[in-house]
Amino acid sequence: MERMAEITFDVGTEQKEKTALLDLSWEEVTQIVAGLGEPTYRARQIWEWVYKHFAASFDEMANLPRVLREKLDERWVISPLASATRILSQDGDTQKVLFRLADGQTVETVLMLYDKRRTLCISSQAGCAMGCTFCATAQGGLARNLTAGEIVAQVLYFARYLANSEAGPQMNVERPTSVTNVVLMGMGEPMHNYRNVWSALRRLTDADAFGLGARHITLSTVGLIPMIDRMADEGVQIALAVSLHAPNDALRSSLVPINSRYPVADLLAAVQRYIDKTHRRVTFEYALMQGINDSPALAAELADKLSPLLCHVNVIPLNPIPDSPFQPTSDVDTARFVEILRSRGVAATVRLRRGIEINAGCGQLRRAVQRRGAE
Ligand code: SF4
Repeated sequence: MERMAEITFDVGTEQKEKTALLDLSWEEVTQIVAGLGEPTYRARQIWEWVYKHFAASFDEMANLPRVLREKLDERWVISPLASATRILSQDGDTQKVLFRLADGQTVETVLMLYDKRRTLCISSQAGCAMGCTFCATAQGGLARNLTAGEIVAQVLYFARYLANSEAGPQMNVERPTSVTNVVLMGMGEPMHNYRNVWSALRRLTDADAFGLGARHITLSTVGLIPMIDRMADEGVQIALAVSLHAPNDALRSSLVPINSRYPVADLLAAVQRYIDKTHRRVTFEYALMQGINDSPALAAELADKLSPLLCHVNVIPLNPIPDSPFQPTSDVDTARFVEILRSRGVAATVRLRRGIEINAGCGQLRRAVQRRGAE
């Protein structure tokens, strides 16, 4: 399937000289407002314009005095995102945006429309240090952590987009709507940027800020055990997903190098501790790769290890990346793999693969653009 043309456009200006409001806490915004000699309720108004009305400029903040808007505009911008390249799938159900940040780094965000859900897959780092052998993001290594503002900005950008009638003609959106689900499965390992990710998550779930229900957010990790233990103590009902991809150390270490540090048995023990503490079901992600991790014997081994856990397995046919030896498993073999899991008492579903024609797999658009830039 052919992808639609890429469109690049500005989403912010002059970031280099100005601090982004999204990188500031509520307390910092109140201090700024006080420093400008304004009453505290102005801070509340600004906060609501940003998080409830998704304002992209101070000029939109109609209930603020013009002088105050001008003062704010002199020193701050709202979003740390600079420009974006957008690609839409032909069926209008998937959109990927490559955001350029103030320092030139780029990150990807993908919007997927389902029957009742508008799910956003966001990035937590520019690049990734985990080195998973089948992943496009891994190939460039880690550039840097995203700030909390850069993480939140991805969500607010799409919240604005979906609330705007502009979305209708571009995607299968009939009327203004909102982001209903957020998954941290884009570029980066969220647990490797724990502090900024959780600062962002608190603002996304705070009823006074974006206010998305914690149960509608999923954090996906490759298995950093100390951080799984830490997440169990956060007391927030954000869902945990663990990218497993193999049931034993020999195979998993060859696909997911961090496994050498946090082996399968230790990882599953950490997941059990998490379940004991939170009483929440955990999802295991398993990207099926032809001839690598998709045999009936591996399905049986996986089922035996996971059946004692309160869990669900998301089987994902791999998004193929150019020049990669890893190819997706056929539909027939995928169905067989899932059937073996189910027959051994493990709940499993095949996750729809979205947006292959728009490089929707993790890090693929970024890599394609980088390659074009280098040519
Ligand atoms: S799969 Fe995830 S954790 Fe692994 S390298 Fe890619 S982005 Fe990082």
